[in-house]
Amino acid sequence: MKKNILFVTPEVASLAKTGGLADVSAALPKALRSKQTDIRILMPAYSGLEEKTQAQYVTDLPELFPQWGAHRLLKGRLPESEVVVYLLDSPALFQREGSLYQQTNGEDWPDNPQRFALLSALSASFAETENMDGFKPDLIHLNDWQTGLTAAYLRQAENETPVVFSIHNLAYQGNFDKQLMHELGLDWSLFTHLGLEFHDMLSFLKAGIIYSNEIATVSPTYSDEITRPEFGFGMEGLLMERKEQGRLHGILNGIDQTEWNPRSDILIDSNYNGRNLVSGKKANRQHLCKKLRLPVKNKHLLVGMISRLTWQKGIDLVQSACERLCEMDAPIQFAILGSGEADLVETWQQLSQRFPDKLAFFNGYDEVLAHQIEAGSDVFAMPSRYEPCGLNQMYSLAYATPPIVNLTGGLADSVIGLESDNSNLDEATGWTLKQFETDALVQIFQQALALKSDSKSWLKLLRNAMRQNFSWKLSAKQWSALYESLIKTA
Ligand code: ADP
Repeated sequence: MKKNILFVTPEVASLAKTGGLADVSAALPKALRSKQTDIRILMPAYSGLEEKTQAQYVTDLPELFPQWGAHRLLKGRLPESEVVVYLLDSPALFQREGSLYQQTNGEDWPDNPQRFALLSALSASFAETENMDGFKPDLIHLNDWQTGLTAAYLRQAENETPVVFSIHNLAYQGNFDKQLMHELGLDWSLFTHLGLEFHDMLSFLKAGIIYSNEIATVSPTYSDEITRPEFGFGMEGLLMERKEQGRLHGILNGIDQTEWNPRSDILIDSNYNGRNLVSGKKANRQHLCKKLRLPVKNKHLLVGMISRLTWQKGIDLVQSACERLCEMDAPIQFAILGSGEADLVETWQQLSQRFPDKLAFFNGYDEVLAHQIEAGSDVFAMPSRYEPCGLNQMYSLAYATPPIVNLTGGLADSVIGLESDNSNLDEATGWTLKQFETDALVQIFQQALALKSDSKSWLKLLRNAMRQNFSWKLSAKQWSALYESLIKTA
């Protein structure tokens, strides 16, 4: 039987992106769409999206919070795919200078609760009324706090359409002043500790956790970690309960192999595969070094990193290891791309001024450079303190750039660490930190440097990395099974 799935998300790669959620939101619907599954995306119409998706007008939405302006539903397509994208067109709320969730000064938009309550109310409307383009979902798949209130609105309307809530990062919870309950059309009876209340705030994330049928996180290890206080950000008790009820799942993300594939990537200098790996990596490395104005030193270890610059990502650890190694004049170079917190930006800038031959730092967001760093670096640093899934380590594996990761979340589920005596070289695909300490990271960089000088062993590690398969097919199969189980029992 054909099923209709509404996939609700605040960001989709190639349309609007701040992180990995966008990559997943583009790739998973593409992978799931089939003769049996009509999966359609719902997201806000940020500036320019009407054109990018070639969207057409569907209907006005006069019922939805008229006090916030006029809203319309548009319908377009995800570029280079058959996936339908519905856009919530509300220019007053979504078309503005700045990033998706923040103003240009880095502060959150003060009306984020209204913006994403509106998105959630619209997604609930698809289940509640017949006149949403005739598309009635058999199941709604929500992603992160921005969509969480959907589940509360459905509960309030006693609508039993099954809902799956995906958590991509538990640290972002969308907790707001409880006085907003009324304005957002939420009944006070839902404001209890078994409902929307979280430390006397209204929590959008908790709405998703409490009122959805099933909860999924983006890797098996993260789904265990978040039931513990160190990773649960206060939600661990509730998540443990869901785990015990068998309603908390961990499905590892895949990667979009049409976008991230060294054999066909049009953004890199030279394409390569298992056969021309050595010459291909060398050509990309030279191109990258020239572009970043780093001297080309083929025997040095070139460490790449692409990241939001935040505490979560362990940037401070890489900075202290980098400083130590540069001071020692070790044969190592760094190619760093990222934007984010001011103090981390400043430290990278200072280090790149102190050691211009060893470190290049590009402060910003640059899709092309991201691909070139993956292709041109020897190893990739990603020692996140926690990592729900992480995509860059999987891109690195695909580009034969062994990742150096902390043993947490999706990093633990996707990288096999090389032992310090290299004894598991037959299966290793990168390195895993045993302790989250500068010394441990410095040691790994030195081990990598030593391995690189042994070209046969190095090639073995690169080949192991490149052989890993993170296609969306496997994840899509697990998602399909989860959808089926809910639609059958609905
Ligand atoms: P997160 O979602 O926590 O930021 P992920 O590893 O899951 O981390 O996904 C990050 C995505 O964003 C990757 O596709 C990565 O290449 C991209 N990315 C992050 N920072 C930058 C940047 N400064 N420039 C280009 N791409 C970036």
